[in-house]
Amino acid sequence: MASVVVTGITGQDGSYLAERLTGDGWDVHAIVREGTRPDEQEVTPGVTVHAGDLLDTDSLRAVIDSVEPDLIINLAGISSVAQSWTQPELTARVTGLAVSGLLAGAWALQERLGRPVRFVQASSSEMFGAATERPQTENTPLKPVSPYGAAKAYAHHLVGVYRGRGLFAASAILYNHESPRRPETFVTRKITSGVARIVNGDEPKLLLGNLDARRDWGWAPDYVDAVLRIAQADTADDFIVATAVEHSVRDFVAAAFAAAGIADWEGFVELDPRFARPVDAPVMVGDNTKIRTTLGWVPTRSFDEIVQAMVEHDLALRSS
Ligand code: GDP
Repeated sequence: MASVVVTGITGQDGSYLAERLTGDGWDVHAIVREGTRPDEQEVTPGVTVHAGDLLDTDSLRAVIDSVEPDLIINLAGISSVAQSWTQPELTARVTGLAVSGLLAGAWALQERLGRPVRFVQASSSEMFGAATERPQTENTPLKPVSPYGAAKAYAHHLVGVYRGRGLFAASAILYNHESPRRPETFVTRKITSGVARIVNGDEPKLLLGNLDARRDWGWAPDYVDAVLRIAQADTADDFIVATAVEHSVRDFVAAAFAAAGIADWEGFVELDPRFARPVDAPVMVGDNTKIRTTLGWVPTRSFDEIVQAMVEHDLALRSS
């Protein structure tokens, strides 16, 4: 049985990935921080949990050395752009530097065992930040505008460096991807849970930072499928994972209220500067031609279907 070490298993993508990997018959190992070691029920059954911390690269190396995996998938990191502004150093270490430890561990294992060890990094559209090119492709220059984007850019470059050295090191450049498992620190889930609270009479208003930012929002399980295709491709490469369709935050708000049967939503939404970013990429949209044509990946859910699924989930959660 092929074995895989995954970081970030307790996050949105990690939970979907664990379900896919165990279902596909992988021997799945997860590195989880000791203090936040999840309860049994929070980790997909069949996953072996190892204690380790991204701030302690020796602990990552120890797990890699003992499991001797065929594949390492790095989903871990400070995932919130907003948080990266309040904790820029922590972001640099967890989202950037830790990847150096994982890649060095993968390379050392490959050398010791004399067989390939594959590595896949969850890169991010935030690396493009102020890119003038639209949509962005795999060749668009990286111009991050947040500490998060800069940390991801460092890790992304290092993946290329190890690929050049002879490691199967690939990256999935993930655009925003959502689901009912998304935390409320992200705008989509904040909106859908806010709509459910308003419908339920729990809260009068939804407070947002801005309505004009435009993003390329996809369905998280599709992005996990893309990561697995990239991991199992013939050659290691970088792939944009995006729907290629952009919408504004305003569009998302309107669609979410509409899914709850409210057409006239303006009175329920207020702008609050506390939620606005110091600097924010105005538009992010990706060209998915390469992954579609090379690996046969396609997004399975439209923008409206994603919003609908998230609103339905949050309405059910509130009424139960
Ligand atoms: P990100 O693109 O990875 O930062 O994902 P988010 O879901 O956190 O943010 C998506 C976009 O929504 C960004 O342009 C944010 O600036 C914008 N946005 C507007 N209001 C809010 C808000 O209240 N919370 C969050 N998280 N984002 C907001």
